Amino acid sequence: MQNQLRVYNSLSKKKEIFEPINPPFVGMYVCGPTVYSDVHLGNVRTFLSFDIIYRYLKHLGFKVRYVRNITDVGHLESDSDDGEDKIGKKAKLENLEPMEIVQRYTNDFHRVTAQFNILDPDIEPSATGHIQEQIKMIETLIEKGFAYEVNGSVYFDVSKYNETEKYGILSGRVLEELMAGSRTLDGQEEKRNSVDFALWKKASPAHIMRWKSPWSIGFPGWHLECSVMSTKYLGNAFDIHGGGMDLKFPHHECEIAQCVGATGKQPVKYWLHANMLTVNGQKMSKSLGNSFLPHELFAGSHDLLKEPYSPMTVRFFMLQSHYSSTLDFSNDALKAAAKGYKKMINGLVLAKQLKFHEDASVEMQEKTIEQIKGIIDNCYRALNDDFNTAQAIAQIFNLLKKINSIATGNLKCSELGKETFDLLMSTYVTLVEDVLGLQEEKPSNISGMIDIIIDLYKKAKSAKDYEQVDAIRASLKSHGVVLKDMKETVGWAYEEL
Ligand code: AMP
Ligand code: ZN
Repeated sequence: MQNQLRVYNSLSKKKEIFEPINPPFVGMYVCGPTVYSDVHLGNVRTFLSFDIIYRYLKHLGFKVRYVRNITDVGHLESDSDDGEDKIGKKAKLENLEPMEIVQRYTNDFHRVTAQFNILDPDIEPSATGHIQEQIKMIETLIEKGFAYEVNGSVYFDVSKYNETEKYGILSGRVLEELMAGSRTLDGQEEKRNSVDFALWKKASPAHIMRWKSPWSIGFPGWHLECSVMSTKYLGNAFDIHGGGMDLKFPHHECEIAQCVGATGKQPVKYWLHANMLTVNGQKMSKSLGNSFLPHELFAGSHDLLKEPYSPMTVRFFMLQSHYSSTLDFSNDALKAAAKGYKKMINGLVLAKQLKFHEDASVEMQEKTIEQIKGIIDNCYRALNDDFNTAQAIAQIFNLLKKINSIATGNLKCSELGKETFDLLMSTYVTLVEDVLGLQEEKPSNISGMIDIIIDLYKKAKSAKDYEQVDAIRASLKSHGVVLKDMKETVGWAYEEL
């Protein structure tokens, strides 16, 4: 049986048994959003993938410190070292303070993660809150000969690094090929080599986000913040670093070079990458114009959407594929997910309601017990196989079949015995709620529900069934709702204490 967690490590390109550096503690860092626009559904997929990893590690009993940053400076339009700062540009466009942009989209990000029941990280540091630490790391890199200053900007010297270390170990890029592939310096003549990347950039007069440093008034390079904040909160060598697949190069490759250059240590034991959400086979991205926003999805208000889909439907849809495979958006798949989600959540409602009861005439059946324990093992085997939620969902549905059989009476409680009955119900509830993070989407229309009960109340009253009348009143009262007999009708109000 596969009872040990194995994870696919993008660094070794192999599945490895998960053994934290300092068990039971696990340090996990995930690159967070650049807060210059609303998060789209593609971003959600990546954060959801790491939410499952976080949840499952905690479920296994690890003490996880989950750090997910907010990028609020340094991420330039081109994703490399030129162009405007994404946040600075938006601030100028809207005539706002950069920090107003940062706050607005950080709030939006938090709203969206809450809607999808994505857990908050333990620490959420921001790049602008760590300028001093970034300056310090640059100083260390200069001291160690891995960085050089030109005209107030500082660059990482990739060829120098490659003399003693290997640049490209994560992405498989070969330095010589990278150098041959980029003929010009694309207007970045300051760099010794086109593959060098900025650690600090001197701000042009038009650049509004700027800080003092020993080299110039300027701003840090995008890759630096993650090296600084991950090692600050998790130590120079920590367990898991994640992000979307598109960050592997150059972002994560540069992170490795910065950390190894500064500390002499490989910073990360397991590099995990979530794959892309695609639309008609193409990565969902704001710049390609094929992205849509969560609220458009919930309202069904986008050309690509045939109808609205609820947050939990979308969560279920995403969990039906393994995080390392691409996932293509389609209305049909979401429609099917809506059905699957309802089925799974009805199982949850049922599992919480069912009570064990003995049937005197029925004996315990070893075979049934074995079968149920076998399905539970399969659930864990799937999750232990690099967090394979797709397979786990199939196995959880097998558990549901047993729960449904108990509900219909086809499977008698006594066949399982109390212990296995409890195990079945608690495993189902835990896997669905705690590990998959699926929640009931309760009807928001409470008035509609009460109206149905009022109808029953009126019928009982006109039938002079006063026992029933009192029972309905008492039961609603226990939920904080009181009925008001009026002249022509019956109304309701919240109970005043
Ligand atoms: P950004 O705000 O652009 O820095 O992206 C935040 C996170 O979302 C990064 O980890 C990206 O890799 C990830 N991401 C961006 N587009 C997609 C997509 N289409 N599918 C999955 N993840 C994505
Ligand atoms: Zn990062």
